Parts: sequence; C-alpha cells; structure tokens
Amino acid sequence: MRLVVLGPPGAGKGTQAVRIAEQFACADVATGDIFRANVAEGTELGRAAQEYMDRGDLVPDEVVIAMVMERLAERDCDSGFVLDGFPRTVAQAEALDRRLAELGSPLEAALSFDVTEEELLRRLAGRAAAQHRADDVEQTIRHRLEVFAIKTRPLIDYYRHRRLLSMVDGVGQVEEVTIRVLSGLPTPGGRDPALALAV
Ligand code: AMP
Repeated sequence: MRLVVLGPPGAGKGTQAVRIAEQFACADVATGDIFRANVAEGTELGRAAQEYMDRGDLVPDEVVIAMVMERLAERDCDSGFVLDGFPRTVAQAEALDRRLAELGSPLEAALSFDVTEEELLRRLAGRAAAQHRADDVEQTIRHRLEVFAIKTRPLIDYYRHRRLLSMVDGVGQVEEVTIRVLSGLPTPGGRDPALALAV
C-alpha cells in the first residue's frame, strides 16, 4: 500500500497511520517524528528545522522533500508506505508524484481526516499537557491550524482531482476510526476490516 494521510494537527492521523502501516505491513513514515528525532540528536537537519517547528511554520519544501525522498529509498519502503505529515504543500505533492512516477509505483490513496476545530483545540491542549511539545502551546496551535488551512488544505482538491481521496470522519474512539479507514481501503488479504483489526 502506498498511502498519504492528510489532516490538521490533532486530527489523529499519526495514531491511525501507525495502525494502517501495521495492517498493510508497510513502512510508517512520519515527517514530524523524523524532524523531532533530528532536533533531539542535534543534527544539521534538526538545526535547520527547529526554528520553523517551534514557530508552528512549515520547514521549507526543499529541506522536507530531500529528506522524504531519501527516506523512501530505504528498503523498508519497498513494501509500501504510509506517509504521515507529508505532503503538506502542493509543491511537496508534485515532488512525490514525480518520484513515484519515475519508480513506476504511483500513490494508491490519500486519506483526509476531518475533525471540527473545537475538537482539535481540545485534543491539542491535552497533548500539550501530556507530551510537553513546544509547538502545542495555544498561540502556536492556532498558527499551525492556519498554516494547515492555507498551505495544506488545497491538497484535498489535489487528490480529489486524481481520484485518490477518501474523507474520514476522525471523531470517535481510535478503533472506530481505524475501522472506518480500513473499510475505505482494499483490506489486506480481503478480510472484513473489523476482523482484520483483531489479527
Ligand atoms: P507534525 O508532527 O506532523 O505535526 O510535524 C511537526 C512539525 O514538523 C510541523 O509543524 C512542521 O514544522 C514540521 N513538518 C513536518 N512535516 C512537514 C512537512 N511535510 N513540510 C513542512 N514542515 C513539516
């Protein structure tokens, strides 16, 4: 499975991406996690990304695109991938399409998680308290939601035009949302999505 997950911060896409990747036995590639690991290790990439992340801005396209293209070349992505947090701009989506076209293995689906702004703010405030993420303080949260609306939301139409888009209602228990997601995708081994989860 080659899949991208879209959604505003707090929509639950990270949690679902891990579960989808497990179901399809493919790589889970979360750009935010890669950046946070690089910041923690003090790498050059981490230093390049940190100021943008702390402000709730997007890391420049050329930095992110180079990082993701390198990651997709790793062996574990041969069996497919779930991209969580990439693409976030039309330029990133186009770069991904170009690379996958070169490889002759185009994207199979784009999932967009839909959650009301009120619910997002509630979840993000909880996450800020639990995880001490510098970018989860309220002012930065609002900025990240604006950045999503301006830069990332256009990708919903981008993938709709390519007939790859599935909208997913992201409100509910984690398991319920996973079942919704899997019921919109070809299930691994053709099993019922609810049963597939139990395996
Ligand atoms: P996330 O954990 O996906 O919310 O990402 C945390 C932060 O990492 C974002 O607010 C951005 O600063 C940066 N980031 C992650 N993915 C991307 C991307 N595809 N493009 C630009 N910046 C990104």
